[in-house]
Amino acid sequence: MRKYLVSINDLPPDGKEFTLEDQEIWLAPLKEFHMDCRIEKPLVARLTVMPAEDGCLVRGSLTGEVVVPCNRCAEDAAVAIDTRFDEFEDIPPEENTAGAAPDDASHVVYDRHAPMLDLAAVCWEQFMLSLPVAPLCKEECKGLCPVCGANLNEGECGCEREHDDPRMAPLRDLARRQ
Ligand SMILES: [Zn+2]
Ligand SMILES: [Zn+2]
Repeated sequence: MRKYLVSINDLPPDGKEFTLEDQEIWLAPLKEFHMDCRIEKPLVARLTVMPAEDGCLVRGSLTGEVVVPCNRCAEDAAVAIDTRFDEFEDIPPEENTAGAAPDDASHVVYDRHAPMLDLAAVCWEQFMLSLPVAPLCKEECKGLCPVCGANLNEGECGCEREHDDPRMAPLRDLARRQ
C-alpha cells in the first residue's frame, strides 16, 4: 500500500490539513488481518497535523459506514462511523523505531533520519477505535438458537431451550470466572 508520510519537521507552524479518502488505507489492513468487514459508504478522514514540542498534534474526524457481522446472529450489522479525535504523537528516539512491532503505539517512522508521521496508520487506528465491541444488526436481535443454530429473528425453531437471554451471556461468563 502507498504510504502517507508527512515530514514532522517540515510542518508549517499553524499546521497542515489532509483529506484521506483512498479506501486502500482501510481495505489493505482489513484484508491483512482477515477481518470480516466491508465498507458500505466510503471512509473519509480529515486531519489537521500541527507541530508541537517533541511531536505533533493530530486532530480530525473519520466518517463512513461499514458492515460487520452481528454479535448475536452473525447477519449483517451496519455501523455508522462518525468519530472525532485529538491526539498527540510523540517522536520516539530513532533507534527505538528500528524493528518496532507493527502495533507499536507510535505512528512516527523515520525516513532518512527525518521523523515522519504515518497518516494511514493514524486513520487505521481511529477506525479500529470507532468499531463497536459488540455490533448488533438491531437492538432487539434475538440471536441464534443454541440448540439448532436457527436465526431466531426469522421465527421460532421449536427447540426446547433454557430461557436465557443471549444479552445476559457476557454477565454469566463474568460470574463464572469469579
Ligand atoms: Zn443480529
Ligand atoms: Zn432451535
